[in-house]
Amino acid sequence: MKISFFATTALFITATEAFHVGHGGRRTTSLNILTGTESAAERVAKIMSNKPQENEAFDKLVKKNFPGAISNKELETKVANILETRGLTPANTLLCTSLCCDELARSLEDDLNKVYGHNFNLGGLSGFPFAGNTGFGAMSAHVPDGGYCLLVHGPHVGITKDGVIGKVERSGIALVDNCCGSAIAASNYLKGITDGGAKITTKLQQFSDFQQGAVQELILPFGKRLNEAENRMKELPYALYDSQDILVRDIISSGSKGIKSGLALLSGIQINTSPETLDYFHPLRFDYYDEIGVVVEDLLPSLMVSAPVTSVILNALDQGQ
Ligand SMILES: [Zn+2]
Repeated sequence: MKISFFATTALFITATEAFHVGHGGRRTTSLNILTGTESAAERVAKIMSNKPQENEAFDKLVKKNFPGAISNKELETKVANILETRGLTPANTLLCTSLCCDELARSLEDDLNKVYGHNFNLGGLSGFPFAGNTGFGAMSAHVPDGGYCLLVHGPHVGITKDGVIGKVERSGIALVDNCCGSAIAASNYLKGITDGGAKITTKLQQFSDFQQGAVQELILPFGKRLNEAENRMKELPYALYDSQDILVRDIISSGSKGIKSGLALLSGIQINTSPETLDYFHPLRFDYYDEIGVVVEDLLPSLMVSAPVTSVILNALDQGQ
C-alpha cells in the first residue's frame, strides 16, 4: 500500500504544518535533556522495535476484559503524532507523570522518557498525585519557555497470561503476585469495613506509611461500588481513576497560571502484563489545555480511531522506508 502511505504521509505533514505553532524560547532544560532532531514518532518507532511482538490471542484477551484498551505501542505512536501536530515536540515538552511506585508502572514512563526526556514525578502509591499543588507548580516552572507539558496519569492493574485480573507475572520472580499491591491492600481494608465491621483506622499521622494511609482514606467512598462489581479487581482501578481524575484536574486548575504554551493531559488505566507481552493502556481522558488553562480540545477520539494514519507511518518506519 505504498500509494496509501505516501498520500497519508503528505496529509500528516500538511496537518503538522497547519497546526504548528512557532516557539522562540530555549530548547532544553536540565530535566529535559534529550538532544538530537528525531521527531517523537521516530523515537517511538525505535523504542517499539525492541518490544515483544504483538500477540493476537493475548490482545483479544486484554480487550475482552478491558474494552477500550490499546497496546502501549499503539498508544505511544498515536500520542506522539497527535501531539506533534499541536506543536509538542521532544525539544519543547516536559513530561510529567502521576503513576504508581511499582516498577511495572515505569514501563510506559521509560518509553516516554526516551521520547520527551526525564519526567517530573507527581505520583505515588496507586498513581495518586501525591506531589500535589506544590509539585505541579514546580513542574510548570521547569517547562521550557514557550513550551508545553505532557501530563500522563493513571492507576494500574495486572493481567496474567491466562486472564487473571489483579495479578501479573514478573521477571525473575516465580510468584504470580498482586498488581496493583497498594490498591488491593486498600480494597481489602475497605472490604473489612463494609463486610466485616472493622473500624476506619486511617493512619495519616503515621508518616512511615503516609501514602498508603491516604490511599485507604481516598478509597472509602467506593465501598458500595466495589462490593456490587461483577469483578472487584477489574472495577478497582476504575474506581481509583475516578478519585485521581478529580484530584489531577483540580491540581491543574489550581496551577493553571503556571501553564506556558499548553498542556496535554493523558489519563487512563495502565494494564501491566507479563514480560513476554506488550503492556496496554485504557485511555479515559486526553484533554488539551491552552495557555490559560482552559480545555480547548478533546483529543480522546483521535486515540480511539482504529486505523490511524500514524500506524501507517510507523509501519513504514519499521520497514526502513
Ligand atoms: Zn501499584
